[in-house]
Amino acid sequence: MIEHRTVRVALLGAGSVGSQVARLLLEQGDELAARVGARLELVGISVRNPHGRRDVDLPAELFTTDAERLILGADIVVELMGGIEPARTLIALALESGADVVTANKALIATHGRELFSIAERVGAQLTYEAAVAGAIPILRPLRESLAGDRVERVMGIVNGTTNFILDRMHTRGDSLEEALRIATELGYAEADPTADIEAYDAQQKAAILASIAFHADVPVESVHREGITSITREQIQAAQDAGFVVKLLAICERLTTQAGVEGISARVYPALVSAQHPLAAVHGGNNAVFVEAAAAGPLMFYGAGAGGVQTASAVLGDLVSAARRYVVGGPGLGESKHSTAPSLDIGEITTRYQISLEVADRPGALAEITGLFAEHGVSVETLVQSAPDAAAGAASPHATLVIGTHSATERALAALALALADVSAVHAVTGVLRVEGQA
Ligand code: NAP
Repeated sequence: MIEHRTVRVALLGAGSVGSQVARLLLEQGDELAARVGARLELVGISVRNPHGRRDVDLPAELFTTDAERLILGADIVVELMGGIEPARTLIALALESGADVVTANKALIATHGRELFSIAERVGAQLTYEAAVAGAIPILRPLRESLAGDRVERVMGIVNGTTNFILDRMHTRGDSLEEALRIATELGYAEADPTADIEAYDAQQKAAILASIAFHADVPVESVHREGITSITREQIQAAQDAGFVVKLLAICERLTTQAGVEGISARVYPALVSAQHPLAAVHGGNNAVFVEAAAAGPLMFYGAGAGGVQTASAVLGDLVSAARRYVVGGPGLGESKHSTAPSLDIGEITTRYQISLEVADRPGALAEITGLFAEHGVSVETLVQSAPDAAAGAASPHATLVIGTHSATERALAALALALADVSAVHAVTGVLRVEGQA
């Protein structure tokens, strides 16, 4: 049946993702119309340079630089420009006009989501952003809808493809961080300025979004503890491998009860050790995966392409079809579920296992001195591997490498221990402290 009703769709941006969304909308018009019950009419595409080269051939007459006019003539607006401004102002304008908005803009949702959701709620419009976290992987809708009746306890994800590519190369090819980053840039996995990826700002924004949805709370991006991968060395990767682990940059969001009995939310991003048997250890290259633990459902794993123009366009179109169906059927937009008042917890409250690498003096009593300090700080030792003394250091000051795995300890205790270790004469250097996450 040919649908005669139309839903007017305005597209803001025609870069890697936007051009693929436009192509799919135009190529799959009949099929999408059958699914929606109305034709999705692409009424225009707003860009900076309407004459610029595009990844795909699109009709020249669709392009404009007048985003506001385009928005005011649309039923649904798809924002794929990226960045904070003018995306923020234009999305607000679209929502105020009553249009539903679909976006892939994690930076905007993580930092200004609250104000945009409140406009949407006030006018009865809907703002959806499945593509903002983990690209093509359906994760926000499953958390928001499929698991709405369950209690999500923990979300642990590899949500940045660039850093996963780099760490994976360090493991599988023995690259240094610099070498792996250079290859990632050459292959287009890393941008010319990789700061947002390797310093984990990108993953931090995604963690804030995941935690907010998983725990029905308002988790500000500043409350997400962040550590990037820039200090990871080839030696740490080797030590991890020797102990049966892989190093992954993880975004972890979990419910926690502190020792003082406060129930809260911990959201954090850092490179961590994952058992080689854990499903996340098998996520290679630029892929993403999110591991969810829910009270009734148990463990669930979502895996796939975390970026890429056409892959991300799939998630955008899913939101668009859903918004268009709502437009056809009518009814208010589904607001964000933010009923929880659980506080965001400081990193000092978390409890985890650690692997600590030390360069120590190879002399009698050194080991006892070091393990005594662990006991003093309430951090109990689970494994201890000492490598042969470094011959190059000479007989005058021989030193060995010690890798100590701990039982669960609080971050606070660990931080105090790390400071104390640096002051012990038997310890030449604390060369690495990595947390161990996930049960195999
Ligand atoms: P992109 O390739 O840089 O394209 C951006 C588009 O927006 C371009 O068409 C550009 O116009 C237009 N634009 C930018 N600033 C504008 C302004 N001030 N006024 C008018 N138009 C403007 O970006 P992208 O990679 O497609 O990413 C789009 C969004 O998707 C971002 O929020 C990104 O975080 C998100 N995302 C991307 C991926 C991915 O794999 N690429 C994955 C997940 C999420 P011109 O073409 O004229 O310059």
